[in-house]
Amino acid sequence: MTTLKDILLKRIAHQGPMNIADYMAECLMHPKYGYYQTAKVFGADGDFITAPEVSQMFGEMLGLWCAVRWAAMGKPASFYLIELGPGRGTLMADMLRAANAAPGFGNAVKVAFVEASDQLRAVQAEKVPHAKWFDRLADVPDGPSIIVANEFFDALPIHQFEKRNGKWLERAVAAEGETLKPVLVPASAKLALLPARVRAAADGSIAEVCPAGLSVAGDIAARFTHHTGTALVIDYGYAISAPGDSFQALKAHAYVDPLSEPGLADLTAHVAFDQIALAAESKGGVCSRITQQGQFLMRLGIGARAQQLATSVEANGQERILGELKRLTAPDEMGELFKVLAIQSPNLPSPPGL
Ligand code: SAH
Repeated sequence: MTTLKDILLKRIAHQGPMNIADYMAECLMHPKYGYYQTAKVFGADGDFITAPEVSQMFGEMLGLWCAVRWAAMGKPASFYLIELGPGRGTLMADMLRAANAAPGFGNAVKVAFVEASDQLRAVQAEKVPHAKWFDRLADVPDGPSIIVANEFFDALPIHQFEKRNGKWLERAVAAEGETLKPVLVPASAKLALLPARVRAAADGSIAEVCPAGLSVAGDIAARFTHHTGTALVIDYGYAISAPGDSFQALKAHAYVDPLSEPGLADLTAHVAFDQIALAAESKGGVCSRITQQGQFLMRLGIGARAQQLATSVEANGQERILGELKRLTAPDEMGELFKVLAIQSPNLPSPPGL
């Protein structure tokens, strides 16, 4: 049976080492053997769990945020609620349930999913049957929009560099027999995307850039210069980019070597929020402060929602809800590592929670 590893070994034999971005793209998005095409990815029985799968409260808070933004945008009679990388569709379903409490929202909203995986599109269709699917943000028709991206940017391919004797080299994947192994090759032009402060790091440092993420941030902002809109980006990563190796692979909730099982483990990297914000601003977007997820959710009132839910359930349900609240907001859980950034049209008031 052919595996993704066979395909990669053949490619490396013909073309030489592949950079980390190409490796990551193949592992996640290969049309037949890519991770998102094949795996049972999210939830307690998957490889990792995301905030909307932890608790309905996450989507409810984001849904209310969207309703407030829709009002700030002048309650357009028709607008796109666009989600980038919607996973199982849980977040959208929870957001819509909460946002529909705002009179008029339900009639105005058109759901657009930007999703690369056919397998996940089918899962999403069960939760949100009236959605429309697109390959890229640029394919979503013009018009006012609210964009939400939770754990989307961390899945976009990164380039990695390593500094040796005062010079940056690029990390790549080579083969030794049947084993994939890391090597260093001359740095590609993507090195120029590294912020000067990171480029000045000491010998031995590792640094990362995500050109695909910067390009999506630019596309979001460019859209908002033509049509009113707000985006909410939530992910784990750096508020201020720093050197470091954040390329990681998760399988069954455990870390594995990113090169050991191509296509069978989830690959991600930390998101550099300052670079995302700069890319958006360079295309005319206005950015909020970069805020920790715990603070953001508490400011939106997740504490009150948890209290309300906890009083409405049976006794052991109360423990569960308090546990979920802690998971989403505590500094040693998702509260601090996860950051939130809003990008919006120049003429809108500041968003809540940030
Ligand atoms: N937002 C969801 C899922 C996060 S996983 C949640 O919070 O649970 C990442 C999601 O992004 C998956 O749906 C994956 O298929 C999608 N994805 C990753 N890279 C993509 C790309 N380049 N274009 C479109 N979708 C992508």
